[in-house]
Amino acid sequence: MESVVTSLSQPDAVGRVEKGLFIGGRWRSASGGGSFSVEDPATGRTLCEVSDATPTDALAALDAASAAQAKWAVVPPRRRGEILRRAHDLLIERIDEFALLITLEMGKSLAEARAEVEYGANYLRWFGEEAVRIDGSWKVSEDGTARVLVTRQPVGPCLLITPWNAPLAMPARKIGPAVAAGCTMVVKPAPQTPLTTAALAALLTEAGLPGGVLNIVATTRAAAITESLLLDGRLRKLSFTGSTPVGRRLLSQAADTVLRTSMELGGNAPFIVCRDADIDAAVDGAMTAKLRNVGEACIAANRFHVHADVVDEFSEKLVARMSTIAVGPGTDPASDLGPMIDARQRRRVADLVDETVDAGARVRTGARVPEGPGYFYPPTVLTNVPAGTRITREEIFGPVAAIQTFITEAEALHDANNTEFGLVSYLYTQDLGQALRMSEHLETGMVGLNRGYVSDPSAPFGGMKQSGIGREGGNTGIDEYLEQKYVAIHMG
Ligand code: NAD
Repeated sequence: MESVVTSLSQPDAVGRVEKGLFIGGRWRSASGGGSFSVEDPATGRTLCEVSDATPTDALAALDAASAAQAKWAVVPPRRRGEILRRAHDLLIERIDEFALLITLEMGKSLAEARAEVEYGANYLRWFGEEAVRIDGSWKVSEDGTARVLVTRQPVGPCLLITPWNAPLAMPARKIGPAVAAGCTMVVKPAPQTPLTTAALAALLTEAGLPGGVLNIVATTRAAAITESLLLDGRLRKLSFTGSTPVGRRLLSQAADTVLRTSMELGGNAPFIVCRDADIDAAVDGAMTAKLRNVGEACIAANRFHVHADVVDEFSEKLVARMSTIAVGPGTDPASDLGPMIDARQRRRVADLVDETVDAGARVRTGARVPEGPGYFYPPTVLTNVPAGTRITREEIFGPVAAIQTFITEAEALHDANNTEFGLVSYLYTQDLGQALRMSEHLETGMVGLNRGYVSDPSAPFGGMKQSGIGREGGNTGIDEYLEQKYVAIHMG
């Protein structure tokens, strides 16, 4: 890891990234010349200034995407796949450069940032392979008088809105299938982390993606930009990853033009440890499910439901592991856990913890905001968390484990499902019958069974209930970017 830090200096990593908007294959300034600062969450210092797109720029990006759509849609699938495969290979070649950029603007450790680059690159490779497998069908109509031809074609220009927590993987999970399907797109990255997305656009261009297919507008005016794009009839699809409140708002705006939408929203994952669980394995899983991405992950474990007979053993072992975690700048190879994204997010987590402690929870480790620069927050374990407290209802989005207990399987299921969210749940048990029974009853799009991590390009990632609509990845992920067309053929 040390070579990463020394082979490419931090100013070099930031300096070589384009800071403009990417429209029609060219980098340019925002209309009016505005810019905003990108901060290093480990120090609170400004890394650089980036062009701040206006609604006029967003419409220019949609002009470029619309102009490129017809030509891009007929580029042979093999060629589209090759571009994605080349982009995958380039990302892996430059993994250290991308990892450093992610760490600098988002905060996670270099080891985690490298894992994100690999994970994002794998989505590009997976969808590159899917590009040549888009199929249709042909059949005899029910009454025999016609033939039914079904083809699939790109849905058209898409708006892809991404969050800051995985600045490479979140865009890659959308750009991959959109490119594979033959769609053009306007990407709006989160204002906290625009640099990695800009570097990804440059890399895709180098891999052969024609100008106009991918356009990028970083902005601090998300609502204004999105509104102008959503009202434009040339836009055919919105794919959003972010919080449930913003997702709800976008869904209601998308209703005006009956726009196709995919929504990857917030989570409130239960982590259930049954009485017969392998406790050491459950603690390993909890460390991953809780601390990955500084706890700032939609799939982060939020509520720990532990059988009353094993809660002491589980809590003690978890506290012992959490207390040894080294918190520090992600660029320092000695750090296990980097800073949170910004002051506001850290304040929100600290308030949530204080409120839970006031309600009667016990602090077993952490819970103290450290002095000094950067937005660090320690790994925290709370036990005796009272039912119904805000921490059990809201997404924590930080390195805080809130532990509650249960006695019966029915109680565990009731508590786990008692939320409007339904992204993922984690379940630890060695009883096969119980594992399958509980997996079936958990109201989440994904279940980690004796495993603290879910997500794989070959699997459908997404949520039930208010965690979203649609799936990213797997062999149906590309469908989100394709229209079906049925041609009825008269047979005389
Ligand atoms: P956010 O909803 O605040 O922002 C997400 C994106 O939407 C950003 O690009 C932001 O600039 C933009 N945005 C904000 N307000 C907007 C508006 N009014 N109109 C249009 N766009 C707007 O979320 P965040 O804080 O960036 O990310 C964290 C959230 O994302 C968490 O809730 C997390 O669970 C969720 N998330 C979900 C998944 C998933 O796959 N389900 C993956 C990662 C993150």
